[in-house]
Amino acid sequence: MIRTALACALAFLSAQTAAASGPVPVSGGAAVPKSAVDQPRSIEALMAALEVEGAKAGVQPATIRRVLAGHEREPEVAGLAGAQTEHERTVGDYLALLVTPERIELGRQRLAEHAATLAAVEARFGVDRHTLTALWGVETRYGASLGTRQVIRSLTTLALEEPRRPQFWRAELLQALRIVERGDIAAETMRGSWAGAIGHTQFMPSTFNRFAIDFDGDGRRDLMGSIPDGLASAANYLAHSGWQRGETWGFEVTVPYGFDFALAAPAMLRPLGFWREQGVARDGGRQMPASSLEHRLLLPAGAKGPAFLVNRNFRALLRYNPSVSYALAVAHLGDQIKGIGPFVARWPNEPALSRADRQEVQERLAALGHETGGVDGIIGGLTRSAIRSYQKTRGLPEDGHPSRDLLERLRAQR
Ligand code: CA
Repeated sequence: MIRTALACALAFLSAQTAAASGPVPVSGGAAVPKSAVDQPRSIEALMAALEVEGAKAGVQPATIRRVLAGHEREPEVAGLAGAQTEHERTVGDYLALLVTPERIELGRQRLAEHAATLAAVEARFGVDRHTLTALWGVETRYGASLGTRQVIRSLTTLALEEPRRPQFWRAELLQALRIVERGDIAAETMRGSWAGAIGHTQFMPSTFNRFAIDFDGDGRRDLMGSIPDGLASAANYLAHSGWQRGETWGFEVTVPYGFDFALAAPAMLRPLGFWREQGVARDGGRQMPASSLEHRLLLPAGAKGPAFLVNRNFRALLRYNPSVSYALAVAHLGDQIKGIGPFVARWPNEPALSRADRQEVQERLAALGHETGGVDGIIGGLTRSAIRSYQKTRGLPEDGHPSRDLLERLRAQR
């Protein structure tokens, strides 16, 4: 699912759709709305608010009234949005769950079945067929799990009942009404995830209206009923996110003994030659692929886990879903559909930190004078810098990774 507007706030929604991983988080600490304007509590008040906002968005009052009349709430949906269990799965566990032999094999079948469509999409948008097929596989198991909830009903419930981001849900509801008004998908047939993500590649309504493509030429942008529309729309989104034609996402590497892990910072985008000079190599002495793109070193599980050089195409995948686990799952599945073998290095066998653990890491780092940007349990850039600065003071590898070992060290710290 694409969440440009909400970027990191709804991390792992996509994983929820694809992997049935249970309740999924609306993370972050947004304020509870103060007034009825922020969050209307009745359907009448909601329709009134939508009419005002719809005037700017070009949605007719008649559409709002017609679609929302006789609305029923979907009680479970608000509860799902409230569940807070995110990120308690390691990258290794996430990949094992999503990139299975079955999903690889099914991907190869889909690639063959839809070869003509994928070739046409690749030619127009520059996104290769393996990545697109993998994205489709991760999002909805190649269309097998589009989601069965009525999108309008889910979004209406969230706009009325979800306390943290009512304006976000209301804006998405308005965008869903725009889809109906344009005749792309009818209200009754618009189904998706509990959060309102629609179709084969799980577009939120706002993303749908900006990036959906009618690729089969029937006049409708039908991301549910048309596989060509779904795949082309995802490719269009990735192209707008900076996907570079003719390039892969990156590749697995090894780092030499004594490597300076501080180089594995997100801002360290460098040409491949730089990394070769640092002793970064491919397993078994294989050549690095030819690429003119800058790459950064990614250590999703810290210094003890697999290492990757990734480029702007990987970043485009992160714009689809701002989770490294997600982007790596698409990348890895795409490689294996293509016939490139699995990753060589093993994932460390260590449990994921819970939200409470992550908050404790932040608290303890802050107490030692390392600025984490708050104690929200979200490991962002500031927390990673704080971990690095702590690791530096202790003479540890500066990988910025919030491991169990790090937490134990912080606890033992006097
Ligand atoms: Ca169409």
